[in-house]
Parts: sequence; C-alpha cells; structure tokens
Amino acid sequence: MIRGNEFHSIVKNIFGDVQGFMESEQLQVNCPRCQERDGLSHPDGKFNLEINTAKRMFRCWKCDEPKFSGSLGRLVRTFGTYADYEMYKAYAGIFHDYDYKEDEKEYAPVKLPEEMILFTQMQSGNLEHFEAYSYLVTERKISRDIILKYRLGFCTTGKYAKRIIIPSYDINGEINYFVGRSYDPAEKKKKYLNPYADKDKIIFNEGLVNWDSTVYLVEGAFEMLTFPVNCIPMLGKTLSPTLFVKLKELKPEVVVLLDPDAYKNAIQLYYMLYTIYVGCEEKVKIVKLPTEEDLDELRRNQGIDDVIDSLYSARGLNTEDYFIQKLENSYDKRTRKYQYNSKFAEWKSNGTKNFIR
Ligand SMILES: [Zn+2]
Repeated sequence: MIRGNEFHSIVKNIFGDVQGFMESEQLQVNCPRCQERDGLSHPDGKFNLEINTAKRMFRCWKCDEPKFSGSLGRLVRTFGTYADYEMYKAYAGIFHDYDYKEDEKEYAPVKLPEEMILFTQMQSGNLEHFEAYSYLVTERKISRDIILKYRLGFCTTGKYAKRIIIPSYDINGEINYFVGRSYDPAEKKKKYLNPYADKDKIIFNEGLVNWDSTVYLVEGAFEMLTFPVNCIPMLGKTLSPTLFVKLKELKPEVVVLLDPDAYKNAIQLYYMLYTIYVGCEEKVKIVKLPTEEDLDELRRNQGIDDVIDSLYSARGLNTEDYFIQKLENSYDKRTRKYQYNSKFAEWKSNGTKNFIR
C-alpha cells in the first residue's frame, strides 16, 4: 500500500512529469525553484525535488541558501491552483496530525534593491544609465509616461545589476514585490530575477487596479506595461489564491488575455472564472490573439491599434475552444501551432452538425 496516494494526482496535476507516480511514497519531480534560479522557461528535467506523500514533506536536493523544503501542503499551496490546495486540505484533513498552519510560510518582507535608481533620477550623460533607458525606450518601446506611472527603475551594480526593476505596490503604496528583467545582451539564462517572496499573497500593483472597470488578466509585468489599462500580471499562467478570492468577491468585468502558446491555460482559466461568476457569467471574456505573437510583440510589430483591436474581440468561448481544451499536448512549440486530433479535423471538415449531438 502506498501511503498518501491521495496526493499523487494533485502532484501530477501541478508538475506533470512525476517519477514514482502511484508506485512509491517517494516521488520525484522537476524543481520549480531550480528552474526559476536557472532562468529556464521549462522544467530542467533533473527531478531534484523529492516528495514523500506518507510524511507529507518535500525537499530539493539542489536548492541551498535558501533551502527549499517543508510541508507538501506548502508546495501545493505555492505552485498549484486554488483548487489543488483545497483538494489537498480535504485529503490531509483526514489525518489527525494535519494542521493547515504547517503550510504557512515565513518570508522576509520584500524591499526594493538598495542599488536601484529610479528613471526619474537618472543622470544625463551617464552611459550606464542610458543603456537601461535605451533598452526600455528603444528596444521595448515603452513610453516615458509609463516609466513614470509605474515608477520603474534599474540597477547598474549589485545582485540585480543590469536589470530593469518593475515594482509592485499594495493598496497602501507599500512595496510588496518586484520583477527584475535583464537588459544585458550577454545574459542568456536568467532573463528574470525576482525576490524570494510569497506571490500567492499579493496582487501585482493592486494599488493601481480599478475594480469598477474591466480587469485584464495577463501573464507578466511587461504585458502590464504594454497595455497599461487595468491589467493584472498574474506572474504565471494561473490565478493566485489572493486574486481568486478578490475576483470572486468583487466580480468585475474580466478578460483573460494570455500569450498564444498558453491559450489552453487561458480556456481553463476562463472556465474557472465562469464557475465563480454565478448569475453574471457574461462578465467573463477571453481574447484569442490574432497571430502567434504575444501581446508585447504584437504592439511592437503591429502597433498599439492592433492590440486595442484584439482587445475589442473579447468574447465568450466557442466550439473550437472546447476542443482545444480537450486536447493534450496541444501546442507544438516548434511549429507554433495547435495539433488538432483527427476527430477535430473531421468536425472541422463536416461542420458541427455531424459531431455535436
Ligand atoms: Zn531546487
């Protein structure tokens, strides 16, 4: 008997590839913290994160300073969805020794890097400062208004040297997170370096969100700069528990706007919101971008008008979305296309009549 096998499917839900799945109490998955540290956009394939489902504990063999270990609930809470963690608590609650407090974790409060220089303080004639400015304005085509509005800064020295700093402020104007994006052309591995903090507890730049207006859910902080009207960067492809609770409570008009390669995630997110917007489901909308470009590329290559046009196309789900959602491994990174299965092709050529009964 495998103790804690109730948790295996939750682990699989979150990490996909699981060694020992339904065979052992000891599971191995790819460590997301290692992935973050190495700046990889995909799991590292090393399976360094060890999970014991009988003891409900995890640890990574590679992560050191800070160590990455603790209760399984903490792992699920940090990297899973709200639903994953709810399910975890329901199962773990069967065991008398379980206390959800073991899943709470201690983080030091986030501070901006000491070396950070605000763009409003940059010195003209300083080449290092100009390099940062030039990256934002010339390469990323971010306007001066945006730089000022979001209080963007940069570092030329220290841990965050040659990074643009995009700060997040809470409703009281206190810093609660930041994103550090490299502008060093030599930096190939770690494009992003963010502080060690609980992303679940924050809503990025909540202080700037207008809940009475349409809220756009986007993946990263640069998308927020691209389309700076009431965007919330999720810092990933799923909702944090804090954002979930807020949306459930306030139910603003919401538009799901993820990159084309994450369209399946977008549909899943749409479904999740749809189920909590009871009686006002029409307030949930989704955008499918017209090309394979993400929001930022679209703006830089086609211009802001195309971005705005695509936002006007926000709508409910259609039948094609339903099929995409049903597909596994649907997106081919190489061809940048969805791989439709034969049933879907059949449906497409025959029309919907034959297929949907
Ligand atoms: Zn690790």
